[in-house]
Amino acid sequence: MDLAFSAEDLAFQQEARAWIAANYPAELRGKQDEGDDIGKEDMLSWHKVLGAKGWLAAAWPREYGGPGWTATQRYIWSEELARADSITLLPFGLSMVGPVIYTFGTPEQKARFLPGIADGSVWWCQGYSEPGAGSDLANLRTKAERFTGDDGREYYRVNGQKTWTTLAQHADWGFFLVRTDPAAKAQEGISFLLIDMKTPGITVRPIITLGGEHEVNEVWLEDVIVPVENRVYEENKGWTCAKFLLAHERTGIAAVARSKRGIERIKHIARTELDEDQPLIHNPFFKRKIAELEIDLTALEYTELRTLAGEASGRGPGPESSLLKIKGTEIQQRITELALEAVGHYGAPYFRAFGASDNEHPIGPDYAHRAAPTYFNVRKTSIYGGSNEIQRNIIAKMVLGL
Ligand SMILES: Cc1cc2nc3c(=O)[nH]c(=O)nc-3n(C[C@H](O)[C@H](O)[C@H](O)COP(=O)(O)OP(=O)(O)OC[C@H]3O[C@@H](n4cnc5c(N)ncnc54)[C@H](O)[C@@H]3O)c2cc1C
Repeated sequence: MDLAFSAEDLAFQQEARAWIAANYPAELRGKQDEGDDIGKEDMLSWHKVLGAKGWLAAAWPREYGGPGWTATQRYIWSEELARADSITLLPFGLSMVGPVIYTFGTPEQKARFLPGIADGSVWWCQGYSEPGAGSDLANLRTKAERFTGDDGREYYRVNGQKTWTTLAQHADWGFFLVRTDPAAKAQEGISFLLIDMKTPGITVRPIITLGGEHEVNEVWLEDVIVPVENRVYEENKGWTCAKFLLAHERTGIAAVARSKRGIERIKHIARTELDEDQPLIHNPFFKRKIAELEIDLTALEYTELRTLAGEASGRGPGPESSLLKIKGTEIQQRITELALEAVGHYGAPYFRAFGASDNEHPIGPDYAHRAAPTYFNVRKTSIYGGSNEIQRNIIAKMVLGL
């Protein structure tokens, strides 16, 4: 892959930068950097602006509502989003179920579901994990029994429990892995269902995380009736879709551009905070930690570019996405650790109630008050999308052939 930007790429970079500056909602500015609460309306407002421009589903082929960008343009785009401190885009439709539907779905499914993802109007959630089926996902027990309804149509009756379902409290639709053949070998009896979250029998219960946030949920399914035409790909072959989706999910988790922004932010903090009457940035131990982070991030960036180049030449993200996931999430965690270290004692007095509408103000500078909850929140990254230990197992088997 040629890593120098062409004149067209540089022109695209300018266009993207100017467009984001002109169109990023004013009320969202600063929210991502400060780690402020980002609500459903915040999310949807930016998604819809991008969707109206046709730039939301940035990685999708043009025929399904994507802009048809090259791998380099997509890379530039993610850099520009991070540079502008854009809120993180929801991956569940864009980089998870969307690609599954346009790769494995029927023409009817593509026509029905893809437009709502590409224009940012439909919110999706991921129903994979269950109690007892996280790392060992193929052990999932939520069952879907097929029957013929009184109207003569075919349906599934779904019963079971999903857990850790991110932002399911806002979701219009969910994609679920369910067991359709209990007698088959674990991976062979699973199907991939699209379920309207308003269907009777679905209950979403919050799980409050260490940082005090309502981000994840339990989802209970009790006699949930789903038309058979909502199954993507063949019955009992859902594991093929599941694996394909996980590879896409893991590549996205690397978040290189976002981490670059995080390092810039730490430098800003370290120029402001004092250490023995000197800006912290002059402390050689602190400087070394920033340098090590930057070196590791640069290495990750080139690995990601190689993966993108592979995708551009028709190879989907394969087991190397596990490598991106491990390094990307380790770097994200080191960034939040270093940010917490940089804000020092200001990281301690954290109260969840502090927000835009509160009379009380947090102690210390603005950049400090979310350092601790962000540190706690980002512990999740080495767990979700398949834990980093599991990614090491995948690399050992699929990349190293051990
Ligand atoms: C914040 C957050 C959001 C999430 N969002 C979603 C979501 O939206 N949808 C969804 O479906 N899931 C979601 N998940 C679930 C996530 O995918 C699982 O938590 C993850 O796969 C690990 O599964 P588990 O929690 O059951 O842990 P376990 O599988 O019980 O693992 C426990 C520990 O044992 C280790 N371990 C397990 N097996 C092995 C092995 N063979 N070799 C070495 N080590 C092993 C693991 O690495 C881990 O450290 C989310 C999780 C979190 C934390």
